[in-house]
Amino acid sequence: MPRREVPADARAKPPRARWSVHFGCVPGGTCGTNGRKIGRRRRAISEDFARCTAKTAKWLQPRALIATFRALLWLASVSVGPVAAAPPYKGTVFLDPNILTQSDPTALRSLTPRGRGDRMMFDRRVNGWITARAYLFDAQFDDGLDIEIQVNPEFSAAAAVAEASKYAESIGRLPTLLRAGVETVWLHRGRKLFGGGNKNILIHLQMAEEYMRDGFLEEALMHEGVHSSLDPQHRRSPGWRAAQAADGKYISEYALDHPDREDLAESFVPYFAVRHRVDRLPKAMRETILKAIPNRIAYFDSLTRETLAFGVWRTPPPISLRSVRSIRFWEPARAVHVREVEP
Ligand SMILES: [Zn+2]
Repeated sequence: MPRREVPADARAKPPRARWSVHFGCVPGGTCGTNGRKIGRRRRAISEDFARCTAKTAKWLQPRALIATFRALLWLASVSVGPVAAAPPYKGTVFLDPNILTQSDPTALRSLTPRGRGDRMMFDRRVNGWITARAYLFDAQFDDGLDIEIQVNPEFSAAAAVAEASKYAESIGRLPTLLRAGVETVWLHRGRKLFGGGNKNILIHLQMAEEYMRDGFLEEALMHEGVHSSLDPQHRRSPGWRAAQAADGKYISEYALDHPDREDLAESFVPYFAVRHRVDRLPKAMRETILKAIPNRIAYFDSLTRETLAFGVWRTPPPISLRSVRSIRFWEPARAVHVREVEP
């Protein structure tokens, strides 16, 4: 949630004389700011009293009272501000395993071995960049996109073929627009977090097998595909900023904690769910998502109308946001286990 900026004039300390004179004066009494003078000279007392009474009378005029009341209301709104609503989910990768499954069609057309070559890859096991003589594969997709799969040489040649084929097929289940910015995929052993960005998707095999076992592999790949394909142009765009502000809340705690880095990726999986997998989604979850981020959904709608219209994906009729009713349920969600590779 973008912090509400306090106007500079509200932060500035009011002129001391102005406030002490206006609010220190009591009609018919003494003026607090000049109290010491009052005890010294009777003439000064009468002069101060007259001046104070005149200023008090001026402040009691209806126009001045109304202006004061308005100013107090404004100060109250600035100091309190809107209360940010809590996100409905911890993370969105694990919302529902049926959003994208192994049974969905893939756009993978072919996987061609290209021998081996030196490649620089990020490996979370050493938390850094390595250069390895990787097994290389050219994955081609029905929508004209292609990706180089780079497999760590710690695998045997046969295992490299099997793993490259498996994950190229899963990546082919992503919508076209989420593969458009992916140029390479890194495959390593190890139970480490996935990564996105760098025009790449980073996969550690043991973690991928856990995701696959639980049904969340494609959802995790979708999240990372957003980082590589949509983040560069959209995560800080004026339109996205406006959608964030208009929604006034985040879909997940992960997005709230990292609004610039994660909000786009965290919002896309639930967007895809309510727009393209609504028949697989529990009704309460659908309503929660539509209620939480309607403006972000509209933003994605403007992006996907063309890019989902070809390849293996078809765009179903849009859901009417007017049909959303108040939210009564909050679904628990597992913590997100997806982090980014720092370039
Ligand atoms: Zn992420």
